Amino acid sequence: MNLFKPMDLDSKSDKKADLGNENAEKVKCLIIGSGPAGYTAAIYAARANLAPVMIQGMEPGGQLTTTTEVENFPGYPEGVTGAVMMEDLKAQAERFGTEVRWGEATQVDFSQRPFKVVVDDSKEIEADSVIIATGATAKYLGLESEERFKGSGVSGCATCDGFFYKGKDVAVVGGGDTACEEATYLANLCNKVYLIVRKDYLRASKPMQKRVFDTENIEVLFEHNTKEVTGDNVVTGATLIKKMGTAEEEEVKINIDGFFLAIGHTPNSKVFQEYIETDEVGYIKTIPGTAKTNVKGVFAAGDVQDTTYRQAITAAASGCMAALDAERFLGE
Ligand code: NDP
Repeated sequence: MNLFKPMDLDSKSDKKADLGNENAEKVKCLIIGSGPAGYTAAIYAARANLAPVMIQGMEPGGQLTTTTEVENFPGYPEGVTGAVMMEDLKAQAERFGTEVRWGEATQVDFSQRPFKVVVDDSKEIEADSVIIATGATAKYLGLESEERFKGSGVSGCATCDGFFYKGKDVAVVGGGDTACEEATYLANLCNKVYLIVRKDYLRASKPMQKRVFDTENIEVLFEHNTKEVTGDNVVTGATLIKKMGTAEEEEVKINIDGFFLAIGHTPNSKVFQEYIETDEVGYIKTIPGTAKTNVKGVFAAGDVQDTTYRQAITAAASGCMAALDAERFLGE
């Protein structure tokens, strides 16, 4: 099977002029990103004596630190806050010798081994293997009110937070497969789900659309844009604009307790894209059933390579795979 397009990595060696500091620190296994994927990779790599170094990234702990309670991660019967879970994972990784550092990977050279990674535009590290676990970032509309209610009614993940809206009325923004999937998921839990779609059609696949239209407690609001999420301390409603920019434009108010964004994710892969093959959105391609990328010795785990599941537990599992793949690679 040849999943990857041939990439001429040698031709990228011009960049090496910037890198190649002879005093660069040398590590066996460098993990970039500190969500469940990165920490699980670190636990496995550390226990396998790979002395991993982790660069935490811009948002230490990853997306989970922005959610409140995590109730679907196995092993926490009473639930756990995202922040505590990430602290637990960090402590576990450090217990076996992972060195966790602040910083962001700002430049890489994967054209030859050892791989070179520059942290915060200043410190160069040479690594025999690299695990990319930089995650993805849920897109938000960019409204001030949306920012104010993050964690108290506004969420980027229905599977994570939907349960807290049991029996309530909620809205989902988006018209793609994620929005339809999240709307049907929430419809099972909630009293009513508004699906706010900016166009007059859904972009989602036909079977997904059918599920939405066949679900009685989903009301699709076509040609609606969100002006504002409203409430005092928590979300109690939203103000929408119907047929924005037309003669029929009108303001519509809905009463809701939860406002879910499902307008896509941005995988955090930009810094690697010169060397690492991604799909058109930027998700890193891996050989199915492995964490291997097109560059031998560079592995990817978690949401940066997951277009479908994007759960903490699937991210953790793929982090484990990446560490095992790295260990085998280093042993070859
Ligand atoms: P998509 O990019 O497919 O859809 C994003 C949706 O959000 C579109 O309807 C878009 O509107 C809307 N949107 C974007 N920006 C705004 C905005 N500012 N205001 C209002 N609406 C906005 O993202 P998805 O996350 O849905 O899907 C990503 C990929 O993952 C797709 O390839 C999808 O098929 C796949 N996927 C597959 C699943 C499955 O098979 N089970 C489940 C989930 C995702 P517009 O249409 O107007 O551009």
